[in-house]
Amino acid sequence: MPFGAPADPWIPPNLRLVCLDIDDTLVDFTAACRTALAVLLGRSDLWPLWERITERHTAMVVSGDLDYAAAHLRRTQCFLGELGVVVDTEHASGFETRRKELVRRSWRLFSDVLPCLDWLRAAGVLLAAVTNASGAHQRAKLTDLGLARFFDHVAIAGEIGVAKPDPVMFHSVCATLGCTPEEVAHVGDKLHTDAVGARDAGLAGIWLDRGSCGEREVPEGVHVIDGLDELPQLLVSEFARIGVPAQR
Ligand SMILES: [Mg+2]
Repeated sequence: MPFGAPADPWIPPNLRLVCLDIDDTLVDFTAACRTALAVLLGRSDLWPLWERITERHTAMVVSGDLDYAAAHLRRTQCFLGELGVVVDTEHASGFETRRKELVRRSWRLFSDVLPCLDWLRAAGVLLAAVTNASGAHQRAKLTDLGLARFFDHVAIAGEIGVAKPDPVMFHSVCATLGCTPEEVAHVGDKLHTDAVGARDAGLAGIWLDRGSCGEREVPEGVHVIDGLDELPQLLVSEFARIGVPAQR
């Protein structure tokens, strides 16, 4: 390339790695879970209860008090208990197995995912999927949906032993791919777990606020996009301004 000629597509040369959360960032996981629960129970009004109980159990996993398998069983027992149905571990396990099969049949990519990943690959950045969910089914999900080929690394909290927003999670991904935190951007749908966590770990934190209704408070130093179709523009136009001079 002649001296001074821009690369095409050009991105700030300091950005070497983009990390993406999986659930509700790439995959419409909430819709799949809602569908599965409604099919299993024959009613669709119990999603808020399931979500509340899930949040409680996820917090116990993140804090290290439970592993994923135990948390999933206890979540089911707790959820069914709220409905007045007491089940033993075996029945809870059967419920969870059926639920996961139904979820797997329902999960879909958001329509903006493939164009965005194609652009990122063409731009020459490394890509990592970074998830707080447990291992095997996240890898199956990436494979099922044809995403595995895009990623240089898949970081799974259940395998690393820490979870977002712990900076150790973000730093382990950077180290695995030979990048420093300031060379890395992380994109995810959860404001604190993904975007604020990444920012606090020294990465560029990008909050993917799908379905935004316009009113939102964005913490200082956090970027926000409404869809992945906005990510290329952000990387090209904003990143040169957040600290590292572009060398074109
Ligand atoms: Mg997510």
